[in-house]
Amino acid sequence: MLSAETILQEAKNLSEYMIALRRDIHAHPELGRQEYRTQALVIRELEAMGIEATPIADTGVLGVLRGGKEGKTIGLRADMDALPIKEDTGLPYASENDGVMHACGHDCHTASLLGAAKLMAAHKEELCGNVKFFFQPNEEGDGGAQRMVDAGCLENPTVDAVFGGHNSTGEVPGVYGLKYDKCYAASNTFTVTIKGKGCHGAYPGSGLDPIVVASQIVVGLQTLTSRRIYATDSAIVTVGSFHAGTAGNIIPETVELKGTIRTLGPKMRADMCRWFTELVEGTAKAMGAEAIVELRESHPGVVNEEAFTALVHESMAKLVGRENIRIAREPNMGTEDFGAFMKRDLSVPGCFCSFGFGDNGVDCKYPAHSPFHRVNEDGLAYAAALFAQVCFDYLNK
Ligand SMILES: [Zn+2]
Ligand SMILES: [Zn+2]
Repeated sequence: MLSAETILQEAKNLSEYMIALRRDIHAHPELGRQEYRTQALVIRELEAMGIEATPIADTGVLGVLRGGKEGKTIGLRADMDALPIKEDTGLPYASENDGVMHACGHDCHTASLLGAAKLMAAHKEELCGNVKFFFQPNEEGDGGAQRMVDAGCLENPTVDAVFGGHNSTGEVPGVYGLKYDKCYAASNTFTVTIKGKGCHGAYPGSGLDPIVVASQIVVGLQTLTSRRIYATDSAIVTVGSFHAGTAGNIIPETVELKGTIRTLGPKMRADMCRWFTELVEGTAKAMGAEAIVELRESHPGVVNEEAFTALVHESMAKLVGRENIRIAREPNMGTEDFGAFMKRDLSVPGCFCSFGFGDNGVDCKYPAHSPFHRVNEDGLAYAAALFAQVCFDYLNK
């Protein structure tokens, strides 16, 4: 089996290849569901390596590398979409697509996974099992991961574990971040319409004021997180939009509320969504109004499976030493659609980590989704090396 030293050295030897790809993708960013150029680039590169590559979920790519020996199947994921941001980095390879920018570093994810694919394709005879490459569309939008799962990316051959990661400019290349168990929050979005009865503002008795009902609901919703769950659990209910009315002396007919619910783990998600609906409908009913609740499931969140995460932890240690692994204690209440590859019931063990792409705050000091966002491209080799190391450790153990 390949040593970690060899894997890291081979990944570093592919740096030039990955940097060229990353800059090409960076200069030609595409929004979610429109990743046609990126899709063609990924298919071209995978086919040149002798890896089967097919379009999936409209603008995604599924690659399959079959190892020289029988064994399990691992799925590796990179997202390919950019954001509706006007780039202001001044880099020579800055976006040529006005108003669209790779400001979340998905260009780095795509390039490093292609580098890992090239590394592993060169050693496929030594691999016991298969590697599937999930180049997914639209992570920032409605979730390309779920659409790839719906299109069957986890079957034929059946995927036994999934691995992925996100770049972090908070750490330098050669440092990895890892979180056991609950890692990213699940996200649900809602629209609530409160139906009252409009009337003159001077005669509330002749109507039913939906603004007062909605206000009661907004306040009541905050008791879900303060009174229904343990203080050691985490959940968020945010009402980010409250719209009603046209004039100060008219009680309107309806109010529309929009917001998001963030939870950690499948049970909290199910509980919070049920309580939310009960509270909204029940409060409206108690006040003589009616509430129409539209609750939409967005990203499922990420829960890293214990045993597979321990394996990833060991792979990281072999490459960079334990002192260069940052174990996070707190989950992130932001979200990531990677969790869709683990399935709703978490029956596919998975692990999502972070790769250092920073430079101690010199040029790479801007957060993701900033028009000034920059990364340290030395991170590509370490991301590619980790993809490959996890594959060898999982398939050949
Ligand atoms: Zn993002
Ligand atoms: Zn991202």
